[in-house]
Amino acid sequence: MEEFKRNFKITISILVLQLISTLSANSLLAEDNRLSPKESKILKETFKYAEDFEARKLRIDKKAYLRHSNFESIFKFGFSGRKLVNWIQTRIKSYSSGATGDFIAYFQNGEVILGKQFFSLNKLDRFLTILHEARHADGKEFTHVNCPDDFLFLNPRDIRISPANKKACDFRTDGSYGITASVLFEMGAYGYLSSQETAYRYNSEISRILPEE
Ligand SMILES: [Zn+2]
Repeated sequence: MEEFKRNFKITISILVLQLISTLSANSLLAEDNRLSPKESKILKETFKYAEDFEARKLRIDKKAYLRHSNFESIFKFGFSGRKLVNWIQTRIKSYSSGATGDFIAYFQNGEVILGKQFFSLNKLDRFLTILHEARHADGKEFTHVNCPDDFLFLNPRDIRISPANKKACDFRTDGSYGITASVLFEMGAYGYLSSQETAYRYNSEISRILPEE
């Protein structure tokens, strides 16, 4: 009988432990609850903005478009905001806000941690930030490399943050910076951004792609 009692106690303890771990796993899944209602609203507005993009009428000539367009070869579907938002959502499982140090956001185990400054960015920059982070979900091969010590370019979203000597560059053209450049080009080509804005933003993303040695 004593042994039965002991076993019973052990069984109950295991069940309690399992229950606790299930509860904490569930609360991990519902992490966008960790965004304040205001932050959550800003995030939703970001997706709503992006969902409107459509490949309707090209605003630049076809030859210029074909020279720089690589969206379809990267994403495997034609330019579409709705599909792009879906692409992001299959990669990022939850969002939270908190300290992000020298970054506006970072990706960790399916979750994106958004810095406070993210919520004061305009919708285009918020969208590009999330798109960038979503690429990190595709694996280690999309991890950044260090930008050179003498890297001269500014961070277009926060000039106080210098990319020099930080893990904020890529060698590949389809990494986080490559995909934001690709999307910016399509946005410009289909008239969602002015020519000037497209060019400076596109160039800025491309500046993070280092020539391979
Ligand atoms: Zn990154």
